[in-house]
Amino acid sequence: MTTIFDASRPGRVNAQHAPEAQAITTLENQFLRASPPPLPQVSELQVVRHFTRLSQRNFSVDTHFYPLGSCTMKYNPRVCHTLASLSGFLDRHPLASEESGQGVLRTLHELQEMLKEISGMRAVSLVPMAGAQGEFAGVAMIRAYHLARGDHQRTEMLIPDAAHGTNPATAAICGLTVREIPTNAHGDVDLDALRAAAGPHTAGLMLTNPSTLGVFERQILQMARIVHDAGGLLYYDGANLNAVAGRVRPGDMGFDAVHFNVHKTFATPHGGGGPGAGPVGVGERLEPFLPVPVVGRRLLDNGGEWFFQMTQQELPDSIGPMAAFAGNVGVLLRAHVYLRMIGAEGLSRIADFATLNANYLMARLAAAGFTVAFPERRATHEFLLSMQFEAKNFGVTALDFAKRLLDYNCYAPTIYFPALIPESMLIEPTETESKETLDHFVEAMIAIRQEAQNDPHRVRTAPHAVPVPGKGPGRLDATRAARKPDLIWKENTVS
Ligand SMILES: *Cc1c(COP(=O)(O)O)cnc(C)c1O
Repeated sequence: MTTIFDASRPGRVNAQHAPEAQAITTLENQFLRASPPPLPQVSELQVVRHFTRLSQRNFSVDTHFYPLGSCTMKYNPRVCHTLASLSGFLDRHPLASEESGQGVLRTLHELQEMLKEISGMRAVSLVPMAGAQGEFAGVAMIRAYHLARGDHQRTEMLIPDAAHGTNPATAAICGLTVREIPTNAHGDVDLDALRAAAGPHTAGLMLTNPSTLGVFERQILQMARIVHDAGGLLYYDGANLNAVAGRVRPGDMGFDAVHFNVHKTFATPHGGGGPGAGPVGVGERLEPFLPVPVVGRRLLDNGGEWFFQMTQQELPDSIGPMAAFAGNVGVLLRAHVYLRMIGAEGLSRIADFATLNANYLMARLAAAGFTVAFPERRATHEFLLSMQFEAKNFGVTALDFAKRLLDYNCYAPTIYFPALIPESMLIEPTETESKETLDHFVEAMIAIRQEAQNDPHRVRTAPHAVPVPGKGPGRLDATRAARKPDLIWKENTVS
């Protein structure tokens, strides 16, 4: 059976739960259907089984190891979801009065305060709805800052070539010119190139740290001085904060703006395009420009507190609103629960274990003969392999390894990103996986390497255990699936 329509039989309905049909009589005839919609006629049990079976065909963090470098799918405790779904949160209308929303506003205010503490920044706005939108907010504020000072010539954003792809995209969307700064042979930014590029046209620098090479930039303080001395501001892409949280803070390193991917770092799974939240934190110079609403707190005469949303009235220099209401509140609430649950001590343990797990996996794979991109560097929360040797000698690429890993019950790591390293594989084990799971991954990689030598065809045609709808097991045409997805069912088109 491929679709739920195959199970359909005329007249089979779940009458018990069917809502009373009500004809809408106010619509004009031309808008009414001539015949009923082609809905499947199935029992409740058939519906439950169909969708449960479909869900089991998928890879997910709930079922499989998911070492997807850079786009972390990590620990999502159920309690975060349960508490964020309390009806007081879930059923509140976003336009309801401040008086009736003191609970949710207090919760959001506490999250702002925790993110300030974690990042070392002076103020936070929770509004941006994704990491990329947090970047947009940060760069828009940097631009607004220069313009407010009449500094109109600062039109260039300096971006290392090991940055996440959203960094140059953000700068370009904000109307700035991107100047790429090369990385040196050790995976750090080339300081001489940075010095040569920084000047009166510099609006700022965007630094992804840890960089997409899976290393911690070692010259951050020198970089900060070079850019500030040139009159530019510093933006920290904090999407992968789980590598550093509780250990170092962007604010202490001199950064003027930082965004968080709370949907990667704090309890909402990333992937599949959402939902997300990308709060942005700023230092003193950018505070007046924060996107609204920012949650404010007032002390009352009677000793109590009053929480309220600051709009453009209170923050006249704000870059403005970025979402219909207060941002993706459900995701923010999950982050609040998560942070309250693990506390400050738990946060630094996350960073410790994220890096320990990555370094363990890197060391074991290196010992097994795989090529680590920066063998002399310690990994952060993730690390890079290059499969160039395997591609050249066995004709088996990073893509083939990734596909074959699915047959070994591991989700595929990120491949061909970053492009700086040929045949790259970016592996992020996360802080919550057990040693046994990490060992299983190493054994799978070793087994695939042996297959690549003895039976390369088997690896090149993998996966063999993962179904493709209508085709049986095999390799998906990834280009067609992305460019021409066949998502709409039409009668008599599916066998
Ligand atoms: C994921 C990620 C982003 C973008 O975040 P989205 O929420 O997907 O928009 C930006 N920078 C880095 C380093 C990331 O890993």
